[in-house]
Amino acid sequence: MRQRTLTLQQIYREGTEALKKAGIQEAAVDAWLLLSYVTGFDKAAYYGNPGAEMTEEAEQRYQVCINRRRRRIPLQHITGEQEFMGYSFLVNEHVLIPRQDTETLVEEALKYLQPGCRILDLCTGSGCIILSLLKIGGERLKIKELSGEGTDISGDALKTAVKNARRLTVKADFFRGDLFENAEGTYDMIVSNPPYIPTRVIEGLQDEVRLYDPYIALDGKEDGLHFYRRITADSVHYCKPGSRLLFEIGSEQGKEVSALMEKAGYREICVKKDLTGLDRVVSGVYNGE
Ligand code: GLN
Repeated sequence: MRQRTLTLQQIYREGTEALKKAGIQEAAVDAWLLLSYVTGFDKAAYYGNPGAEMTEEAEQRYQVCINRRRRRIPLQHITGEQEFMGYSFLVNEHVLIPRQDTETLVEEALKYLQPGCRILDLCTGSGCIILSLLKIGGERLKIKELSGEGTDISGDALKTAVKNARRLTVKADFFRGDLFENAEGTYDMIVSNPPYIPTRVIEGLQDEVRLYDPYIALDGKEDGLHFYRRITADSVHYCKPGSRLLFEIGSEQGKEVSALMEKAGYREICVKKDLTGLDRVVSGVYNGE
């Protein structure tokens, strides 16, 4: 027998309280998003009838979600998705949850897309960068004959990227490899959001990131620059004059990454800021020398 009958409003309040007690920062936001996930209600439906009763089955599912969130499991791992550039991407423990910061990289790359562009995304993870570029570049901006490839060292990440391509109805090739390992030919654009957090910094990150984002997607080794060094040095074998390399960077890495690119033969190097005013993207053009 059911012990009690709760309204949406009551259960939303209880969920918020439970998350607050567990020290979750955005307790009310998360409690709402989980309620919406379980019931399928949007805010308008909820406020239209907050006194509606929740079914026992929905209440139980909501409790399970709240309990998982209390254990610091990221909201996106519970709902299985994250919005990025206006599209919904599948996410799981094998891929870094797409961040709003990374939209700066996509926004910047979109400026340089030309018809026929061949694009490579290194450390593709969920595929959110390359798929957004192809989707927005091809469908919204109507840039013709774009082609895109994404590579990752993790086979499980690639499986997620392939599912996301299907979900967004975008054609892209995904292949496994350590950076350029299985890349062939030259690209007009290379983009990457590689792991860039210095190893010693990782343990100080919030639990959701430290425990649940894939460690290999975060760890930029000793000084955080390991992958920028490797990618920049190797990229010149996959570029032609005029090819563009764009990186997402940690906010303190603008100078060093710019210097690496300069040394490898890139010009017109510029650092772009994200919406919060922090350095977030470095881009440059290969000049072939
Ligand atoms: N931006 C991510 C974070 O701050 C890190 C992503 C990365 O290392 N590429 O958690």
